[in-house]
Amino acid sequence: MKVRVATGTAIHLGLRKGKLPSRPTTAHLLTPGKCTFDCAYCTKARSSASNPDFMCRITWPAHSEPHVWDALEETSSAFTRICIQVVNGPGCFETAKRWAREAKSRCDLPVSVEARVNRPSDVAELLREGADCVGLPLDVASERLHPVLRGGRLDEALELTLSSADSFPGRVSTHIIVGLGETDEEMVDVSRRVLEKDIPLALFAFTPCKGTRLENIDPPSLKRFRKIQLATHLIAEDASTRLEYDRAGGLILPSIEDDDLISMMGEALLTRGCEGCNRPFYNERPGCTPYNYPETLTEEQIAEEMRVIRS
Ligand code: SF4
Repeated sequence: MKVRVATGTAIHLGLRKGKLPSRPTTAHLLTPGKCTFDCAYCTKARSSASNPDFMCRITWPAHSEPHVWDALEETSSAFTRICIQVVNGPGCFETAKRWAREAKSRCDLPVSVEARVNRPSDVAELLREGADCVGLPLDVASERLHPVLRGGRLDEALELTLSSADSFPGRVSTHIIVGLGETDEEMVDVSRRVLEKDIPLALFAFTPCKGTRLENIDPPSLKRFRKIQLATHLIAEDASTRLEYDRAGGLILPSIEDDDLISMMGEALLTRGCEGCNRPFYNERPGCTPYNYPETLTEEQIAEEMRVIRS
């Protein structure tokens, strides 16, 4: 069987040549094939006409399994985590379990498996088979839009995430995509439900990808993404933080002194999710201002971000 390997990971595994300005701390692997679900924003969706090598804006060339496991065994010290991302095709669940076992037998790194499963017993099984953490994506943070863009109900996906985190504290994570048409309030409400339970929450920026139903929709503005990052950071620090909205539903951040904002940005703007995962260039091209910073911000970046946030 082939393993799809994110380009940055493949470079650091020595499976392909290349250079990237930021190094991925997590080794990202992807199960092969197309998905049985039909998410409007996903290159792997059932009806998408995207190039099969792409997942979001990144290419994931396929490599033979033995090569990948051998390379991982040799270079595991270059990573802090392995993430197995599951495309929900036939047999994918068995593949994910087998890969989790194989990864654990080859190195000491923690393994995350990110999968769209429907039952708590599936989460339990993945954890039993070697995953240290299971990522249960929520993607669309709007009750209105979830059935249209992702299929299924947000409250059911949320319930699975929250109850799994109750059953397996510290071993469940999730992510939400900013910019799919949700309001700031919807985004903050769903984030709060997750963060109240101390579930690591990764924020992705919607990325229009060729061949998907949403290929012509704009990504979120950097300013809006920053607001959501800061709001979710404040809630993660103190779940009782109250936020307000203007008449158009736009989030109003509490007033924050410049010095406090600067120190807050150092954390809030970094990539979040499972510990040790920095996902460089997942939503942006090298050379562009990242939505999520994969490494500590420089002084110039902080000054620029102050301008964006205060504009
Ligand atoms: S946060 Fe990173 S390691 Fe965790 S599931 Fe998401 S991509 Fe994988």
